[in-house]
Amino acid sequence: MALYRDETRVKKANPHSAFETVHKPGVKVPYSGIYRCVNCGDENCCNKGDPFPPQNHHQHQSQSPIGWQLLVMAVQK
Ligand SMILES: [Zn+2]
Repeated sequence: MALYRDETRVKKANPHSAFETVHKPGVKVPYSGIYRCVNCGDENCCNKGDPFPPQNHHQHQSQSPIGWQLLVMAVQK
């Protein structure tokens, strides 16, 4: 679970499809931020335009496919 120290520097997002979409490994990251693997709960910082970590980002107990879901969106000015 992602941690933060100062709650005045983060805010709850309004409903947004960016937080609902589950992305396949290796596809292009649409928004910079912290993504969570829906299979194992591992979290990764991903930069916009880079590929998501691969299927084998680490060993999974489950044979279910992995996917990356946005947990914290980085806001860039
Ligand atoms: Zn995983």
